[in-house]
Amino acid sequence: MTSERTPEETVERLARSLRLRLQDDGRAGRVAVPRAGAAAQSMQPARPAPSHAREHRAAGALREELAAAAQPVEGQDLFDFGAPDLEGGASRQDALKRIADEVAQCTLCQELADSRTHTVPGQGDPNARLVFVGEGPGEEEDRQGLAFVGRAGQLLTKMIESINLTRDQVFIANILKCRPPGNRTPTPDEIANCLPYLMRQLEILRPKILCALGGVAAQVLLQTRDGITRLRGRFHPYRGALLMPTFHPAYLLRNYTKDARQKVYDDLLKVQAELKK
Ligand code: URA
Repeated sequence: MTSERTPEETVERLARSLRLRLQDDGRAGRVAVPRAGAAAQSMQPARPAPSHAREHRAAGALREELAAAAQPVEGQDLFDFGAPDLEGGASRQDALKRIADEVAQCTLCQELADSRTHTVPGQGDPNARLVFVGEGPGEEEDRQGLAFVGRAGQLLTKMIESINLTRDQVFIANILKCRPPGNRTPTPDEIANCLPYLMRQLEILRPKILCALGGVAAQVLLQTRDGITRLRGRFHPYRGALLMPTFHPAYLLRNYTKDARQKVYDDLLKVQAELKK
């Protein structure tokens, strides 16, 4: 039977279920960002689809608490939580496809769902050891349903090729899977709604290295307010992987100076060296 709860009750219930799950696992203090739908699944009784959206929003309300608890702990791999999407023997490709299908149906951000042409789940090698994460799709990406295929994407292709890789050998995704109208900056609620999809993709991919393109991606993934200028140029431990923040190719297009290009190239050379280890 469907039970109606206030948002406050839902948040409280969610918080309790997450903590309980962590204690059951013996992993207290290590919190995974909630998967889209995972909270709903962990709660009884099972309820129909519309409540998914409400609980997902409740998960958004919890993000401050989760973010604080999800700070990387030296030596611990938060991806140890496993990849529920791979359970039952699904291939990485199938699991990624399933997430892309879910994203295509997603209406958690009504404004984005109403204005999008295509969702942009991200694409690339399911076995990639290097994953690029940008901010959100632009106009061309929205038109094609593919990440980084506009002007910034063409520059990203060159960046990837500068370290002797091709786009087919990496995975390219964004924090947001839908284009914010007018390419505005994603809102905190949009980020909270969408991040679980990226987390599930990362659980499947388990890359050795993530490259965060620009301040939004770096700040969201590292849960920091530090700017990209301060964050870039060095690896940050990230859930058992390494995360290299660098300038967004769109920023480079606007500031096509030798200095900015050299900095991005230096960051990418560090990525290349680490991949060879
Ligand atoms: N900018 C992004 O952050 N992502 C894209 O996919 C395209 C442009």
